[in-house]
Amino acid sequence: MNAPDVRYKAVLFDLDDTLIDRRRAFATFAERFFAAEPAVRAASTLEEATKLLIKWDARGATARPKLFELAQARWPGIDSDLEKQVRRFWAVLIAAFRPDEMVIKFLARLNDASMPWGIITNGGPQQFEKLAQVGLSGLPPFVITSEAFGASKPDASIFGEGLRRLGSRAQETLFVGDNPSADISGAAAVRMPTAWVRAGRKWWIYGDPVPDFEIDHVSELEKVVLPRAAR
Ligand SMILES: [Mg+2]
Repeated sequence: MNAPDVRYKAVLFDLDDTLIDRRRAFATFAERFFAAEPAVRAASTLEEATKLLIKWDARGATARPKLFELAQARWPGIDSDLEKQVRRFWAVLIAAFRPDEMVIKFLARLNDASMPWGIITNGGPQQFEKLAQVGLSGLPPFVITSEAFGASKPDASIFGEGLRRLGSRAQETLFVGDNPSADISGAAAVRMPTAWVRAGRKWWIYGDPVPDFEIDHVSELEKVVLPRAAR
């Protein structure tokens, strides 16, 4: 944490690799894919295959069919039914998410303290399945998915929708996310203060705008988003 102890009036969170550990779930998918595809095992070690899949996935930024097109180009013998691959991907990925008790407690405390908050996430209906998988279904006051809203972060309109749902001003609403451009630049562009979740990275190397906070876990924000009595 590298910013003064101020308190915000509302909070917006990204989902993947902010409130839930997608990197870990994706590594599980990579292991399963390797085990299920003889053509991958014949050409690559698990370590090589995992590295490639992580690179192509780009932390979820790559469209799912494209991910399997890239895999097929590298390992031509894999199951060529890309729709089936995508269906399997979602089933394996979602089942691989694990509850994080510290996240659950932290978010429950926000609710107990009547702190307005919500989730803005790029993605579709699978985001709700992930929330259910990690025991977070009942907690968020609202979840805005880019697919349902019709625009993705870093588009200003989806941040504006979050502020509208909260009824708060940008300057007093903290945005918490792991993606330097979609989350941090996007939120900063609408004048929201930001907290960057490192999600395995060491420090901020992405230039301006620099996030107001750098954290490894959202619970580090208790001081700035919870009244003293609720901590
Ligand atoms: Mg994310």
